[in-house]
Amino acid sequence: MMPTGQTRLAGVIGWPVRHSRSPDIHNAAYRALGLDWLYVALPVPPGRVADALVGMRALGIEGLSVTMPHKAAAAAAVDACTADAAALGAANTVRREGERLVGDNTDGGGYVDSLLAEGIDPAGRRCVVLGGGGAARAVVRALAASGAASVVVVNRDPGRGAAAAELAGPVGGVGALDDPGLLAGADLLVNATPLGMGDDRTLAADPAPLPEHAVVSDLVYHPRRTPLLDAAEARGLRTVGGIGMLVHQAARQLVAWTGQEAPLDAMLAAVEG
Ligand code: NAP
Repeated sequence: MMPTGQTRLAGVIGWPVRHSRSPDIHNAAYRALGLDWLYVALPVPPGRVADALVGMRALGIEGLSVTMPHKAAAAAAVDACTADAAALGAANTVRREGERLVGDNTDGGGYVDSLLAEGIDPAGRRCVVLGGGGAARAVVRALAASGAASVVVVNRDPGRGAAAAELAGPVGGVGALDDPGLLAGADLLVNATPLGMGDDRTLAADPAPLPEHAVVSDLVYHPRRTPLLDAAEARGLRTVGGIGMLVHQAARQLVAWTGQEAPLDAMLAAVEG
């Protein structure tokens, strides 16, 4: 569908942003829904997020995704934040409510949606999350909100790890991989570090001590099969890759902006193709 005078615009701001898969995912959704919408990648240099949001308001842009390194700046620059964006201090989504811009964060909800789509309910599970950055924080909060029995954060920087664990409230805690009981007592292991991304073949954690019923999930989606997922599969464990989170966090944005049900199959096909 070619843009027309009626076309409504959405996009992603980041720096750099040319590599983003979000235009593929969102435009596939618009095509599947027959919507005269267009989603573009908008490179915004550091320090210009507030300007970009003024532009969003003036131009009537319907919604913006926000990616690295702008999530904290976007949360600070919007008129209001949802509870998730406020707690995380980071917005990956901006939507318009009339003249007001609202920051939201769909990363954690999208992650849990991706587990549920595979028939994996985090409720009651003992979870170990590797990493204490933006993605880990969103996942930790969402796992706790979904009823996880415990959420233990393992991070290189202990201060950042403890801050992430706090987002899980009373079920949160910190741990270390050299604790022999940590993985032996885990039902879900999540890699939220960049270990295993691209050409990096570093194993984020050895899945050997995990119990047989444990699920291993990796937020890294390039490559699709990470060293951690390979090692977990070699042990016969159930695995979940990062593509599902990517698609489901976008699906939540699409619902917020268009009010339509997300065509998940088309969105998934766009990123898998
Ligand atoms: P981030 O904010 O930069 O955080 C990275 C985290 O990984 C930090 O806690 C850092 O530890 C840790 N880390 C980095 N290098 C490490 C190393 N060599 N050894 C041990 N720990 C290391 O990044 P992010 O936004 O959270 O993203 C993390 C990963 O998740 C990325 O690979 C990204 O692609 C992926 N992700 C996927 C999705 C999806 O939709 N599937 C969404 C978001 C992110 P310190 O705190 O000690 O520095």
